[in-house]
Amino acid sequence: MSESGTEKVVIIGSGPAGWTAAVYAARANLDPVVYVGVPKQDPGPVLPGGQLMLTTDVENYPGFPEGVSGPEMMMKFEEQAKRFGTRVVGEDITRCDFSSDGSPHTLHTSGGKVIKAHAVIIATGATANWLGLENEMRLARSGGGVSACAVCDGALPVFRDKPLAVVGGGDTAMEEATYLTKFASRVYVIHRRDQLRASKVMQERFMSKPNAEVLWNKVVLDVLGDEKIRAMRLQDTVTGEESELEVAGMFVAIGHTPATKFLRETGLEFDDAGYIDLKDRSSRTTIEGVFAAGDVADAKYRQAVTAAGMGCQAAMDAEHWLGAKGLN
Ligand SMILES: Cc1cc2nc3c(=O)[nH]c(=O)nc-3n(C[C@H](O)[C@H](O)[C@H](O)COP(=O)(O)OP(=O)(O)OC[C@H]3O[C@@H](n4cnc5c(N)ncnc54)[C@H](O)[C@@H]3O)c2cc1C
Repeated sequence: MSESGTEKVVIIGSGPAGWTAAVYAARANLDPVVYVGVPKQDPGPVLPGGQLMLTTDVENYPGFPEGVSGPEMMMKFEEQAKRFGTRVVGEDITRCDFSSDGSPHTLHTSGGKVIKAHAVIIATGATANWLGLENEMRLARSGGGVSACAVCDGALPVFRDKPLAVVGGGDTAMEEATYLTKFASRVYVIHRRDQLRASKVMQERFMSKPNAEVLWNKVVLDVLGDEKIRAMRLQDTVTGEESELEVAGMFVAIGHTPATKFLRETGLEFDDAGYIDLKDRSSRTTIEGVFAAGDVADAKYRQAVTAAGMGCQAAMDAEHWLGAKGLN
């Protein structure tokens, strides 16, 4: 913090993007403070530590040849940021006033404080949309075969040569389902209507696989199984008939909600789905001194390693920006 009481850098969010930004900012002597967020349920479960708090094995983050549990990995990220002096506050940022268009910016916290910051890094992530089934989160958190990310979890041994289901009907659902056809004995796409929203080319890519099948006009009533998913209970939207589909995994692919609602009135620019728009392939937003990193600004890749890379970029961009203004 500078002598005026204004923070040099405030980082909002404590997933891979936020902690990586903190490591870089702290090592650059910017004395960062991270607002880690408070647990919430809307639009889905959100925890300090981010989305990886909801998963068991992370096998695709470099540096962990044996894999690592999501919560353990996030604990290590936090420890590393703290080692270089990062300060941590267990609150949300509820409102931002970026109207000074330069600095300092004004942030309001869930604890009722008002803080000033020259640079702000937004790393609030995105929440996977879930179906809201009774047993869904229990089996997702325990590694019981329910997931919201096929690229993350599809290659796990537990899913090899087993029947799997993807719920959804858009391009993401097709992409996830096509990816899973490499590992699964059969991949069912469960869709509530009689046609998919996905583009024709994505549909054809999936349908061309010999182990691909779409189950039309079906909604999922629940997932069944004690420790592992055993089957899904489905209902036909036309006849009302209920049935069970035996699967070893259910992948929910009905979209993500970026955590940008609290930023709506700030003058930041967003894409149609609410992700923050970045400028010139950097972490700079359309507002001076405000940077964004990770899933909150990335509707495409949404991986821990890409989020961490963007966190590094944001801290470096913030440092350069502060330096150019003589604020570092
Ligand atoms: C079930 C599941 C399994 C996954 N498995 C893998 C995997 O194996 N490998 C992989 O690479 N990726 C995986 N992913 C994707 C990965 O988790 C994300 O890409 C990554 O976590 C994004 O990091 P992030 O820092 O951008 O945001 P997030 O991890 O979403 O973190 C955002 C943080 O911001 C905080 N926050 C939100 N709003 C506020 C606010 N207003 N004020 C303060 N804080 C706020 C939240 O509390 C949260 O801590 C998985 C995702 C899911 C859902």
